[in-house]
Amino acid sequence: MRKKIVAGNWKMNLNKEASLALVNGISDGLPGLSDMVRVIVAPPFVNIPYIQDASNRNARVEVAAQNMHFAESGAYTGEVAADMLQAIGINTVILGHSERREYFKEDAHLLTKKVEQALEHKMEVIFCFGEKLEDRQGGNHFDIVREQLSDSLFHLNDVDWDNIILAYEPVWAIGTGETASPEQAQEMHAFIRNLIEQHYDDEVADRVSILYGGSVKPANAKEIFSKPDVDGGLIGGASLKTEDFLAIINSI
Ligand code: PEP
Repeated sequence: MRKKIVAGNWKMNLNKEASLALVNGISDGLPGLSDMVRVIVAPPFVNIPYIQDASNRNARVEVAAQNMHFAESGAYTGEVAADMLQAIGINTVILGHSERREYFKEDAHLLTKKVEQALEHKMEVIFCFGEKLEDRQGGNHFDIVREQLSDSLFHLNDVDWDNIILAYEPVWAIGTGETASPEQAQEMHAFIRNLIEQHYDDEVADRVSILYGGSVKPANAKEIFSKPDVDGGLIGGASLKTEDFLAIINSI
């Protein structure tokens, strides 16, 4: 059975002190959480070791990276390699976030290389994708999502999918306060699971976790998470506040 996942993407927020307060608050709020729920936080690289130390107190909070480079090592100033993350115990990485696609011009070709590099290292990938507002308004959202998945993931083999978590994040809902309705989220998640079934089989489709991301907050989390193909959420803004993040986790 698929585990539920609530992941917090802290983006470029919180210094050492503030992020320690946040992770400690989250850890303190988790006793009693079902083993079927995973809680992941993704701090900026520089804060990862501090957050790991703090989260080790309560093994329920896992730590992920927000990004990594596709190369093993080399002359890529400012970048971080898979091997470096693994050496400090990071085995999960977010790839394909819409902010990376938009501001850092990460395209399908680059993302495919990053996914392959992560999988080569047996890292787990939280792969983000989703349509822009104009795609949704033009009725092209299913085509865009199909293309994003097939460009970067559909060449993978069945076993690779053990290390893939999908995060459907409609760009128009990220950080905007605008949320896909629970029905829109379910419709797209079912479409995605069906695509995977067509490309692979029902066993692969059934075991992949598909998270929803885009302005999830305590007020809407329960309804979104109640949908059968929504296996949890990737949370931005609301993951920066202890009470909100805990409330979202408790909505699963
Ligand atoms: C995100 O950036 O992945 C995200 C979902 O952000 P927010 O929850 O703030 O919309």
